[in-house]
Amino acid sequence: METKLINGKAIAKIIRQEIANEVDLFIQNGHVAPHLSAVIVGDDAASQVYVRNKGRACESVGMTHNTIQLDKDISSKELISVIQSLNNDMGVSGILVQLPLPNTIDVSEILSTIDINKDVDGLSNNSLGALLKGEPHFVPATPLGIRELLIRSDIIIPGKHVVVVGRSMLVGKPISALLSMKSKIGDATVTLAHSATLDLKKITKLADILIIAAGIPNLIDGSMIKDGAVVVDVGINRIDDNSEKGYKLVGDVDLDSIVSIASLATPVPGGVGPMTIAMVVSNTLKAAKTLQSV
Ligand code: NAD
Repeated sequence: METKLINGKAIAKIIRQEIANEVDLFIQNGHVAPHLSAVIVGDDAASQVYVRNKGRACESVGMTHNTIQLDKDISSKELISVIQSLNNDMGVSGILVQLPLPNTIDVSEILSTIDINKDVDGLSNNSLGALLKGEPHFVPATPLGIRELLIRSDIIIPGKHVVVVGRSMLVGKPISALLSMKSKIGDATVTLAHSATLDLKKITKLADILIIAAGIPNLIDGSMIKDGAVVVDVGINRIDDNSEKGYKLVGDVDLDSIVSIASLATPVPGGVGPMTIAMVVSNTLKAAKTLQSV
């Protein structure tokens, strides 16, 4: 069997074009362009890149954005007050607090300060709780992007056995809840594997759809998947090499070894990553529509 690669970059581009058309219509109908406010605490280089990319994606669809850069020594109280003023600002549609936060700060408390109607990252206790209840409002961008990638690749989810590797709040847990949800685009049987799983290979081999978000290069190889499986690699790992940059990005899957076993697979980069950004933008449009009561 010839493995087909899912081109996340191309699919994300189509989605961004659809969103741009919707934003255009939204503005033509007299509404203010959706606006995303991002908050960064400290000077983590990767956070700067992620927020810059999300800002660019907003611009590319006709949305506005700003970044609030805060000192790494800011207190929780001060950070909460910044978020509260964004909650109260009618010009702000979506709020995103870029993770990680300094470990002096209670992440859960901060994320839960975000107004549920502006929580475009879907990581507050309220948003995650709603997802778990099967009544999602905002779903975290990466799980939402993974589901969209599957749907747009004509993969039928209901009835399939999905194995998720990784139990983070950002990816593993919410994608498990999303795909097992009672819904025409859920209804999968989901197994959640993690660092304490005994005999990972035995579990991953059962997957019709295997989603890996562990952050370990080459964790999954061809001997661990069943013939015809769909493999979604969420991992983004930096590996030192001799290139100009000094590193390359790889996923959690040894792609070469699964070729001709998997039916479909996502590459890294160019698979799930671009979809995550497109979904932040999509959630921001949804937030603007809710705020401006469309
Ligand atoms: P995390 O680092 O918070 O957690 C990793 C998970 O992997 C844990 O739940 C752990 O139980 C599991 N794990 C670790 N070792 C394991 C093993 N040997 N066997 C089975 N499970 C194991 O994870 P995260 O924040 O979800 O990130 C995971 C990866 O996904 C990282 O590489 C991250 O960079 C990437 N990521 C990519 C995107 C994207 O848009 N493509 C978004 C978020 C995260």
